[in-house]
Formats: sequence, structure tokens, C-alpha cells
Amino acid sequence: MITRMSTLFLRTLREDPADAEVPSHKLLVRAGYVRRIAPGIYSWLPLGLRVLRRVEEIVRQEMDAIGAQEIHFPALLPKEPYEATNRWTEYGPNLFRLKDRKNADYLLGPTHEELFTLTVKGEYSSYKDYPVMLYQIQTKYRDEERPRAGILRGREFVMKDSYSFDIDDEGLSESYRKHRDAYIKIFDRVGLRYVIVAATSGAMGGSASEEFLAESATGEDTFVRSTGSGFAANVEAVVTPAPPAESVEDKPAAEVHHTPSTPTIESLVDFLNANTDRKFTAADTLKNVLVKTRRPGAQEWELLAIGVPGDREVDMKRLEASLEPAEVALLEESDFAANPFLVKGYIGPKALQDNGVRYLVDPRVVTGTAWVTGADKTDHHVLDLVCGRDFTPDGTIEAAEVREGDPSPDGNGTLVAARGIEIGHIFQLGRKYSDAFGLDALGQDGKPKRITMGSYGVGVSRLVAAIAEQSHDDMGLAWPREVAPADVHVVIAGKDETVRARAEEMAAELDRAGVQVMLDDRTVSPGVKFADAELVGIPSILVVGKGLANGVVEVRDRASGERTEVAADEAVSHLIGVVRG
Ligand code: ATP
Ligand code: MG
Repeated sequence: MITRMSTLFLRTLREDPADAEVPSHKLLVRAGYVRRIAPGIYSWLPLGLRVLRRVEEIVRQEMDAIGAQEIHFPALLPKEPYEATNRWTEYGPNLFRLKDRKNADYLLGPTHEELFTLTVKGEYSSYKDYPVMLYQIQTKYRDEERPRAGILRGREFVMKDSYSFDIDDEGLSESYRKHRDAYIKIFDRVGLRYVIVAATSGAMGGSASEEFLAESATGEDTFVRSTGSGFAANVEAVVTPAPPAESVEDKPAAEVHHTPSTPTIESLVDFLNANTDRKFTAADTLKNVLVKTRRPGAQEWELLAIGVPGDREVDMKRLEASLEPAEVALLEESDFAANPFLVKGYIGPKALQDNGVRYLVDPRVVTGTAWVTGADKTDHHVLDLVCGRDFTPDGTIEAAEVREGDPSPDGNGTLVAARGIEIGHIFQLGRKYSDAFGLDALGQDGKPKRITMGSYGVGVSRLVAAIAEQSHDDMGLAWPREVAPADVHVVIAGKDETVRARAEEMAAELDRAGVQVMLDDRTVSPGVKFADAELVGIPSILVVGKGLANGVVEVRDRASGERTEVAADEAVSHLIGVVRG
């Protein structure tokens, strides 16, 4: 069917919407793909809905291809399953809650682990039933604190969520691998540039969780990549390469120095350079940062000291990721008062270890390295304190900030920072939900076996915006072919009846060949039509205008801007070739 712009429910805007900051938001609104209803809540107009449906279809095909089966849950859900897993409470203000006329609590589903687990429990009972993978493409609700960037971070959005159920860990690994492969196919097909990053450093075992990030300067996620290899990781997952250990034999003896008024690294380095005949930098100092941690379920907080080279800050997000599931907090004045051996600005390994404080150091602090560090006494530091000779840390920890220029953990190249949009997330859940609901299968030996699960999400509506974010220019959108709202945009550029008749003819021929055609048959100026064609972003534009008198038409490639003159008689077959690639 030919889409006629004369009747299409579409009004493009010349101005950017006032609340839009990122290109995808501006352009999707201006080109008439979406309209805002409330913060983080959008309606899809005809062109937008086509792109959304095409993305959805790609996701569906690849899920079906790995043997996942589609089902569909309601978005309106009773509270009880979410109470059983404590998520009714844990979700906090992010959950949309409501009451029915009998005053019973309901919620709008933010994600559906509970329902999938209960449903499988309801239907399956034997090990022979497993494995099984189920998915849905469904509307999710999250009362995001900062809905942002149009459909990139909505409060109502479309997600593909799937869940795998396996008898054992090997099965889970296999389901996870299948999803990972399917996601690669999906994101390749929609034409995105993306990276796969380990979500955390793998306290849970390597690749238990990975995120797919579409590269984009407007993304909310920061990651690092190597200049010399394909390495990419979340900052939280970067493992610091440790230098080789050194001999402790040939190092000078540790010596305490009076270093008046040097509570900061900068003041210390300045003092040492002015008052000794050696040259120091911040990297020669060992800064000891105190925090407190609490294990899940525990009442008591425990002190934890972290030693990092003085030229680096402790990155709280990295620290939290390293200590998870324990909580972390900074010390308060009362903590210092209760532990007088902690001399602020002059904390050293000795007092920590003498007082039984757990002391973890940056992986760069290896045996044989000599440091300038606190001497546990105001205005005093110790020089040449050698790791493995004068102090022995309790272990290492990934807590120091990661910086551009740091060596890549894989040994190739150095790290640079980049930003991305999270478009997918795959996660080996394990038995959290099967434990909560007692999801067991009767094993071959007649004994019940607890099922292990994975959960996997794709931000389907977010993908539309992420693609727009990567595929646009100053004039408008430029969709990759696989998701575009049409294949060819035919512009009737002239009032001449022969021009109009010939354009209609070509549109009909393309349509008969199975090419999706958008025909600009409006009675507006060619200038307006060209501007709209650039804005709307259909990959091929066929201009039928004055050239027709000489037997030629123009074919434009929206993405590259390339214009080709083609004989009018060959235009249709030329375009069919372009569309079919
Ligand atoms: P984010 O870190 O961006 O908040 P998340 O980690 O909470 O996302 P998941 O629960 O893993 O997201 O959901 C799976 C996928 O759903 C995400 O990878 C993302 O693509 C998409 N998604 C999550 N929240 C939103 C939202 N508010 N609007 C649009 N898409 C979203
Ligand atoms: Mg996530």
C-alpha cells in the first residue's frame, strides 16, 4: 500500500520542542513520530508506530529463533507476588501503585520475574519439562525520578523481557549464551554501533551479567574502551593490571619524618620536594581512606581502610560494586571520635593493622613497592614504607578511579572514556526467584531440584530513540533500512501534470514490487517537500521533477546525501536493487 502524504496523519514541526535536549527527542517530535502526553509518557503516531513495530518484529524473530516462546502478561498486577520477593518494598517510589474498588493493592509491572516464575511453577513439575525460555514484548511502568530525553527514559515504555528456567548451572549458561547471541543479532540488524560490557567485576562469576550499550554522547552510562583492542567495560568492572612484585631487599629503611601542616596529598608532596633532596609525585604516596561496611542482615558496621596511590581518588561506585552485597558508608565525626587511633590526614597502615581494621589496597600496591604514607601522628609521615616488608595488606580491592590513559586490562592499548545508552541487559539470576516461590522440578532420582533462572531485557521503545540518536544529521532522521517507516520516499517536485502522472506510475510500480512507498502528493512547494523528506528520514528519496523533460529523475541516499541522476525508465528497477541490497 502506498502511503500518501496528502492524507497521512502527520504534521511536521519546524521548531524543536522546548523541553527537548537530545537530538532523538527533538527529531522524533519534529518529524511527527511521537507526541508527549505527560512527563515520560508518549503516544506513537503512524510513522513512529511503524518503526516501533519493525523493531519489535526483529526482536520477536530473534527470540523465536533461539526457541523462546512468546506469552503475554497483564501490566496491572496484584501486590502479593511482589510482596513475596520483597520487591513491593524494595522498588520504593519507582513503583506505580494503585488500589481497586475493594481497596486491594495493585501495581503496574516494572518487570515480571515474579509472574513468570509463578506461571512456570503452575504448569511444570518434572525435570523432563525443562529447560524452557519464555518472553513477552510488553508495556512496563516505572515512576522514574528523572524521565528524560523523550522515549529514551520513559515512565511507560516497551520492553522485551525473557526468562530462562534450567535444571542446573550448565543449562543456565547455555540459555544465557543463546540470549547473548540473539541480542548480538538484534542489535546488528537494527544497525546500531554498540559494545557489550560486563556489568560488574564478576563477584558472581565472570559474565553473570552483561549490558549492551549503544554508543552515544548523550547516553547516561559511562564505560571505558581500549584504543588498542575491542576491550570495553563498565567502569565498575575494570580490573587494574598489577605491576610485577619487586624485591624488598634493596629498599632503604622506612623513616618517620616531621612534615608540618601536610594533611593533603598536595601539601605533602610540596613539602617533601622543598625539604628533601628527592623528587616526589602524588603517585608516590599511599592515601588511606576509611569507610564502614555492613553485611546484609548485620546490625554492626565494620571499619574498612582502603589504600590507593595518592594521585587517585576512591570511586564510590567502583567501591560499592566491589563490596556488594555489603553496604558502604563514609565515616562520621562520631566514628573518628570512637576510634582515636585514626588521625585524620595522617592515617597509616600501622595503626590500622595494630587495631585490627581490615586493610585492602589498590592492586598497584604490590610487594616491594615503597610509599610515603601517614605515620598515625599529626604532622608526621613515613617515607619508604615497603609493602610486604613494613606492612602486609589484607588483600586488594578495585576502588581507585579509572582514568583515561590507564593501560587496558587486556594488555593492548590504553583506556578512553565513552558514553552509551543501555539497550539490553542479560543476567544470570540464579535461584533468587525460584527460592522465593519454591520452584522445583522432580529430578530423575525422584528428588526435587531447585530451578535456576536467567532474565534478559531489551528496551524496545528505547531502541527507536537509540537508533535515532546514532542515525541523524542537522536536517533530520536517517533510518537504517531494516527499521525505516518506508523504503522509498517519492517526491513529486512540480505542478506539471506529466510529472505528477509519472511519479504516481513509478510509485505504483514500486508498490507492486513489494517496496514500501511514501508518496509526497501534497500541493505544497518542492522546498517544503524536500525539507520534510530530510526530516522524516526514509533511506531512499526519489525526486520526480523538471528533469523528467529530459528523461531523468534523481535518487538521493538520505544517509550519505549522495545524489544520482537516473534515466526515468530505469528508476524503478534501480530502486528495487537499492532496497533489496
Ligand atoms: P537503566 O539503568 O537505564 O535504568 P535498568 O537497568 O533499570 O535500566 P532493566 O531493568 O535491566 O533496566 O531493563 C531492561 C531494559 O529495559 C534496559 O536495558 C533498557 O534498555 C530498558 N529500559 C529500562 N528502563 C527504561 C525506561 N525508563 N525507559 C525506556 N527503556 C527502559
Ligand atoms: Mg539494567
